[in-house]
Amino acid sequence: METRNWIGGSWSTPADSQVEVYNPSDLQEKIGTVNQGGREDVLKAVEEAKSAQKKWAQKTGAQRAEVLYNMATALEENLVQLAELGSREMGKPIGEMKGEVTRGIHLLRYYAGEGVRPEGTVIPSSDVDVLQYSKKVPLGLVGLITPWNFPVAIPVWKMAPALICGNAVIWKPAENAALTATRMIELFEAAGVDSGVLNLVVGKGSIVGKAMLEEADIDGLSFTGSEATGLYVAETCAKRNIKFQTEMGGKNVAVIMKDANLDKTIPIVLSGAFKSAGQKCTATSRIIVESEIYEDVIDRLKKGVEEIQLSHALDNEAYLGPVASKEQYEKVNSYIDLARKEATIVAEKEIDFDQEGYYISPIVITDAPSDHALVKEEIFGPVATVSKAENFEEAINLANDTIYGLSAAIFTENLGHAHKFLDRIEAGMARVNQETAGVEYQSPFGGMKQSSSHSREQGQAALDFYTNTQTCAIKF
Ligand code: NAD
Repeated sequence: METRNWIGGSWSTPADSQVEVYNPSDLQEKIGTVNQGGREDVLKAVEEAKSAQKKWAQKTGAQRAEVLYNMATALEENLVQLAELGSREMGKPIGEMKGEVTRGIHLLRYYAGEGVRPEGTVIPSSDVDVLQYSKKVPLGLVGLITPWNFPVAIPVWKMAPALICGNAVIWKPAENAALTATRMIELFEAAGVDSGVLNLVVGKGSIVGKAMLEEADIDGLSFTGSEATGLYVAETCAKRNIKFQTEMGGKNVAVIMKDANLDKTIPIVLSGAFKSAGQKCTATSRIIVESEIYEDVIDRLKKGVEEIQLSHALDNEAYLGPVASKEQYEKVNSYIDLARKEATIVAEKEIDFDQEGYYISPIVITDAPSDHALVKEEIFGPVATVSKAENFEEAINLANDTIYGLSAAIFTENLGHAHKFLDRIEAGMARVNQETAGVEYQSPFGGMKQSSSHSREQGQAALDFYTNTQTCAIKF
């Protein structure tokens, strides 16, 4: 398979540069070629999208909804095939990848429903001859820049609300999720998305992404990815006065209190840390344990890690597949090397697996001081640190001792602890007796502190992001 651009309803194969793609589960398997576009493709997409948007915005909400329902059906009919491609391209276990496509279907149907539920507010005027009200209007043309770790769900949770609100979209997917992106757009074309309303431009962040941010005449920009890129996005959009949102990294914590039900808690914490090989922005990467149960928890985590099987991502039972790329493999291993030198690895699984791929053992680390890079920095791999806290007070202080504020969980049977945690934790998504990952499609998603620009995705929050408020006053 090869990637292509879809601009103004026409397919093209850019030839600025090419990258061969190999399956991270099996490096012998070449799965395709990414044809990278350039700034000219972005500028062409802007031209096409601008005129398409005007017609799209004039359609009724019900007409736009119909297109989204058709997009959902297209994903549903091709769920397995699309999930397999995603697994091959970035190594996510097939079960999780199917779940991700399902989430995309739910998101499309959720936002299709919003198309027939527009609302405004009547604001009584002090002048009896004036009717005053506010309503939502589309931003116009929005740029979407997405990461590789959720190749289907993240793009859909941006494009579905953007489209239903009457915007046109230019989407730049991550380079190592561009095959899946191309396939999605092929499906959406067949589903009848209007020409020019949704455009795909594949290419490097430093070229296509940069052109989108610095040159394209866009009215809004939604970004998900690393903190470093996100801060550049924020600065560039702020200078151009473009409405933006950035969703960035996390260092998400699971706090285990001595009253937690450990039989239930440990499998949830392991899943939060190691599913998707820890490559979720909401993955559990720090575990804080009340000291009385610390040894017991460590023993249980060791046992849990021992039971985890590494598998090819397409294995139906796969729990932990490879990491997504050579860059990921090298970066995560550099942190593991650091842990071997400067902390203690208490749980690790021997890799007795002869497939050549980017496989990394699940790793549990102790004895890393609270200011150590292992505890502070986002590793984005199957690696979690464990720290001890004497009591709730110390646990919450350690939990908040991070620049990030994406997701956090407490495990307790004490409702008082749960309430106090929810009151004091500095995280956009705060959870009790549940994984740090797993926020549902209808709920606001996003972070506090350095994890986000503080707007939210999904649910009503996304409809607010992709629109402007217009205050109207009529005098007769
Ligand atoms: P990344 O920042 O390297 O890339 C994200 C996107 O930005 C890609 O499409 C990339 O091509 C583009 N990009 C890179 N440089 C650019 C530039 N100079 N100008 C414009 N665009 C540019 O991130 P990644 O490695 O793809 O994703 C992993 C990161 O994403 C992790 O930090 C993870 O926590 C974060 N993430 C956050 C959320 C969230 O909702 N908070 C969700 C998923 C992933």
